[in-house]
Amino acid sequence: MTKVRTRFAPSPTGYLHIGGARTALFSWLYARKMGGDFILRIEDTDLERSTQASVDAILEAMAWLDLHYDEGPFYQTQRFDRYKEVVQQLLESGHAYYCYTSKDELDAMREAQMARKEKPRYDGRWRDSTETPPAGVSPVIRFKNPLEGVVEFDDMVRGKIAISNTELDDLIIARSDGIPTYNLSVVVDDIDMGITHVIRGDDHINNTPRQINIMRALGHEPPIFGHVPMILGPDGQRLSKRHGAVNVMQYRDEGYTPEALLNYLVRLGWSHGDQEIFSREEMIQLFAAEDLNRAPSAINPDKLVWLNQHYLKTLPVEDIVKQLQWQLESQKLDISQGPRLEHVVMAQRERVHNLAEMLSASRYFYEPITSYHPDAIAKQFKPETANYLQTVQDELASIEHWQDEPIHAAIQTACEKLGVKLGKVGPALRVAVTGNTSSPSLEVTLRLVGKERSLERIANAIKFIKNS
Ligand code: GLU
Repeated sequence: MTKVRTRFAPSPTGYLHIGGARTALFSWLYARKMGGDFILRIEDTDLERSTQASVDAILEAMAWLDLHYDEGPFYQTQRFDRYKEVVQQLLESGHAYYCYTSKDELDAMREAQMARKEKPRYDGRWRDSTETPPAGVSPVIRFKNPLEGVVEFDDMVRGKIAISNTELDDLIIARSDGIPTYNLSVVVDDIDMGITHVIRGDDHINNTPRQINIMRALGHEPPIFGHVPMILGPDGQRLSKRHGAVNVMQYRDEGYTPEALLNYLVRLGWSHGDQEIFSREEMIQLFAAEDLNRAPSAINPDKLVWLNQHYLKTLPVEDIVKQLQWQLESQKLDISQGPRLEHVVMAQRERVHNLAEMLSASRYFYEPITSYHPDAIAKQFKPETANYLQTVQDELASIEHWQDEPIHAAIQTACEKLGVKLGKVGPALRVAVTGNTSSPSLEVTLRLVGKERSLERIANAIKFIKNS
């Protein structure tokens, strides 16, 4: 059996969209599942719209998602000579021809066809023409599409599809400036790169019969195609920015883990029973092209949040620490004077929705408190609180090993000495050391804030209460 080879072939005309990422994921999964190769190809032949910034953005997103490619990135702009060679080959074998039809003629053709209620198409006037070409016109080159017969293919997602050749006109394969067009370069690349399975968005399905015809004219049997339906917004409309983030990297910026995003994307268009959580390994193990959905799937942001929380709770701590790196830089938090991030992750992972929140909810471990939350002042800082905090501070000051157990015991002892319940002391203590009303458990919070800082913050709170 030939080795499976799939590819992801984005056009670098913008960031990597989550629809593109999902297509990449399905291609990658299929290759991994079948023990095959996954290839990255940058389709940058549209020189006006392609940018290096987009290439970089795509590569960055592939790396962040850890969709490792075995070959590439290949750049189509570096293969122009090869495309031109193939165009020449098609001209020589009689499968292509020069077309001198001007724009005005094409417009007139189109209008006449519309007036006759026909589908606009090139009428093939130069196909077998023996006319002398008009002077001064640089021709395009068109593919001689077969006039009869049916193009059939068995789509991995959609099943059997048949298109009559009479539906297809003679496609331009090289522009008048000699630049090969998308349909030609894709075919040449899929042949040269030995692609066995083309998994892509169904916005390309109309190109498929044309590409199959060109492949056959070049003496190759087409790969197997799988056209995945698009992703919709929750309102059933085509997914767009107004539905929220569509750029893969924006999810990183908002604090999602790549594991959660991949899990989310795989479920947009694929299912395995009613299972929702799939590790990378499990996706590979369970992936089957038969389970790709034919119907479009709609995004469900709540599910992504839920998945993200799942992964924050279950991923190895070191992985989360690594992922926090970007947040650290973007939120400009200096962690040199404070607890190790591992400890913060362990304290916060069950409590937050995302990595951005994890870090912003941890600032008080590293930075001085500049104010107390107004509600907290009113509710927790009563006149008698100063005395409570003083007793707690005395107990805490005597702790030798600043660990959860002794901290917990010291707070208990203080309550006993004061003859009050923990509920009278705990919330005020939390406000004193964090400035806020919520944080991990008191002993964990105080441990991470550190002994010296905790005592100092309690002293400041006592002063604050006495002065107000
Ligand atoms: N470059 C095309 C796109 O970004 C994909 C072509 C293909 O997968 O065949 O839409």
